[in-house]
Amino acid sequence: KKMAVPGVQKLNPYIPGKPISELERELGIQNIIKLASNENPLGPSPLAMQAIKAEMSELALYPDGNGFELKKALAEKHGIDMSCITLGNGSNDVLVLLAEAFLSPEHNAIYSQYSFAVYPIAIQAVGAQHQMIDATSWDDEMPLGCDLPAMKAAINEQTRLIFIANPNNPTGSFLGQDELLAFIKSVPQDVIVVLDEAYLEYSSVEERVDGSLWLNEFENLVITRTFSKAYGLAGFRVGYCLSNPDIANVLNRIRQPFNVNSLALAAATAAIKDDEFLAKSMAVNAKGMKLLAASCDRLGLRFVPSKGNFLLVDFAQDAMPIYQQMLELGVITRPVANYGLPNCLRITIGSEEEMQRMTTVLEQVCG
Ligand code: PMP
Repeated sequence: KKMAVPGVQKLNPYIPGKPISELERELGIQNIIKLASNENPLGPSPLAMQAIKAEMSELALYPDGNGFELKKALAEKHGIDMSCITLGNGSNDVLVLLAEAFLSPEHNAIYSQYSFAVYPIAIQAVGAQHQMIDATSWDDEMPLGCDLPAMKAAINEQTRLIFIANPNNPTGSFLGQDELLAFIKSVPQDVIVVLDEAYLEYSSVEERVDGSLWLNEFENLVITRTFSKAYGLAGFRVGYCLSNPDIANVLNRIRQPFNVNSLALAAATAAIKDDEFLAKSMAVNAKGMKLLAASCDRLGLRFVPSKGNFLLVDFAQDAMPIYQQMLELGVITRPVANYGLPNCLRITIGSEEEMQRMTTVLEQVCG
């Protein structure tokens, strides 16, 4: 531990969760549902499954290290050049690559309180300083969201990266187009703004704030996306970022040569084309979100309005006993005390059947 860079020495130890089968054995119950990791209850798209089966016979070969087919499909989807794309082993990989490529111990990177846990880890792992900016309060128009003016004010000579998740995890909060665009315009050119859009697909095309449309305008903008959420491929680990070609070039120099495996490449390439599956994922999410929000309203529990596939619910007391009772009734949710939100649980939107069970359990425990 002592030999690690100073930032890493301060990180909390990693405590792995238990698999569902082990929890079922320990608690002596069956059919536990997991609404804890923002996964897609529909599974992968049928087109992706077909592509995976076809790719199985090629497993003795290395994957295409440049991910040509996937990049081609992504370039078409986004209407940009393939040289603007960097593929990653999940978008997590891309976030880490950005920190590795652009941060040294003399630099700092900015992110918001209550935003994705990987940002401070990636920053500290390369020995750089992490600057956490207080989020907006519960009373704000957008509770527990990014305070963009405060983030702007924190930028100094040593700042190289700013991480913003829109929509944000674990809160579900989101930024409007005008405020976000004005913020990006105000950031100095030598500071890279990373817009993490892992949950973008859960809002309709009309309602979403799609940062990829601004790439031509800003040399210092990076958009990260993932196949883990609406595309239902979390187990495969595939994500990507879009940026100007110079940034993509740097990231491609330092990534592992085969950082995305061949089954993941095939699955993602097929999944992009499955609009029907994507629409279904969104519809299931919208329905489940409504059920859960209505249940919270009935119970008088406040929550953050969410554009993701999860809801952050405030129990106005230590949430751990509630987590435990729900677990014993067969529903796993996500405690967020590690984010500084000990009274909240993050609940992933599951299938309609799962949400019926979830809300019944919730009302049993809190009613
Ligand atoms: N960004 C955000 C905001 C997330 O919530 C997640 C997953 N929890 C990720 C990135 C990383 O997802 P993946 O590595 O599976 O693409």
